[in-house]
Amino acid sequence: MDVQARLRQLPKVDEALKHPRVVAMLEAAPRALVVEALREAIEASRERLLADEDARHSEELLLAEAEARLAGKTRPSLRRAINATGIVIHTNLGRSPLAPEAAEAAAEAAVGYSTLEYDAETGERGSRHVHVEELLKRASGAEAAMAVNNNAAAVLLAIAALARGKEAVVSRGQLVEIGGSFRIPDIMRESGATMVEVGTTNKTHLRDYEEALTDRTGLLLKVHSSNFRVVGFTEEVSLAELVALGAQHGVPVYEDQGSGVLVDLRGWGLPYEPTVRESVEAGADVVSCSGDKLLGGPQAGILVGKWHVIAKLKKHPLARALRLDKMTLAALEATLRTYAEPELAAVRIPTLRMLTTPVEEIRARAERLAALVAEHAPGAFAAEVVPEVSRAGGGALPMADIATHVLALRPLHGTEVEIEERLRRREVPVVVRVKEDRLLLDPRTLTEAEEREVALALAEAVPGPGG
Ligand SMILES: *Cc1c(COP(=O)(O)O)cnc(C)c1O
Repeated sequence: MDVQARLRQLPKVDEALKHPRVVAMLEAAPRALVVEALREAIEASRERLLADEDARHSEELLLAEAEARLAGKTRPSLRRAINATGIVIHTNLGRSPLAPEAAEAAAEAAVGYSTLEYDAETGERGSRHVHVEELLKRASGAEAAMAVNNNAAAVLLAIAALARGKEAVVSRGQLVEIGGSFRIPDIMRESGATMVEVGTTNKTHLRDYEEALTDRTGLLLKVHSSNFRVVGFTEEVSLAELVALGAQHGVPVYEDQGSGVLVDLRGWGLPYEPTVRESVEAGADVVSCSGDKLLGGPQAGILVGKWHVIAKLKKHPLARALRLDKMTLAALEATLRTYAEPELAAVRIPTLRMLTTPVEEIRARAERLAALVAEHAPGAFAAEVVPEVSRAGGGALPMADIATHVLALRPLHGTEVEIEERLRRREVPVVVRVKEDRLLLDPRTLTEAEEREVALALAEAVPGPGG
């Protein structure tokens, strides 16, 4: 059959719309999307026939293509995913899952009216800052506090409010780039401050800052190195020393803490990270951190500090542009409330709970997962529970090797690359690590219910007979 003859076998959209399978599609999805999916599927078939002279028109192939395209058009873009990587604060997967009470508070704020900017005592206009200010003051010991859209916004606001048109002094060892092209020098420029770099990558001394001070200096800035460490021959000036220097010259000191922790993580066997309270006690005028990294709340930027500094930030025009919405504020308030009892925080806040789950428990879960996989996908993998490391992620605790156990699966049919792709392209993607020829599943970042889902997803992802 020549090309033209084969092309003539392709249905027109109007004809295809009468097919029972397409009628079923029309019952489940808007007509415009079904028509679009059909057009694309017919076009794909046309291209296949043109490209390959042995290809024949197949109704089955065309309908399957249309159904797949329709599924792609109707399913939500932002949807649930299963994180089997063991990277707890996985920025691409939404960082911190919320505590149940935080999720409930956000949902309640979402569906109804709220006291967002309403003082129910007086019946007058209130401030949206009050919902988290007292909690942040109590958690940090600071005089005042506020929250904005994220920590990048906090950095922008703090530098703009304190150093616009002036110089901000920062160590060369702290000019960090955080994932997603957030770079301290760029933010500095956007905020209208002139950056004055002092010291070198590995060593900055107090005298370096001292020599950089002029009558144009508006700010001394200290940035947490977050996602990297300079090790070896290094020296950094402590926050307390910077505060003393700032006080001598009447220059405010701002610390961007990055991840930000409200409780000392060593109590749970994690590495030491300076807490927000310690920076406040060291005398910083303002300290900022993220809400959704180690703090375990929603995306937010937290700013705590001296009363007059926070008052200035609240009044700055950028504060309005960077403000939090009601759902996030509700979730942040609920998250911060759990910190009133740190023991409770480690149980209720998923990020802290996952980071502090003992390795023996993870190992037992990996064994349980192995049993589920053997049950649902018998004969598909050579499976082994092996020691590995989980990561905090999100630029937090980069040097912490958090001991874990993973289920390592070597496919007996198909390749690990194929299976990884099938797992990821599901309606609910399952994201795993691939190491050498094995898929690694870390139960640290899985809930118990997800373990079964992962086993079922693996059973679906292994190539079937002949597949
Ligand atoms: C993560 C991080 C930021 C950016 O915070 P977001 O909440 O992601 O906007 C800024 N500074 C440091 C040091 C960080 O680690």
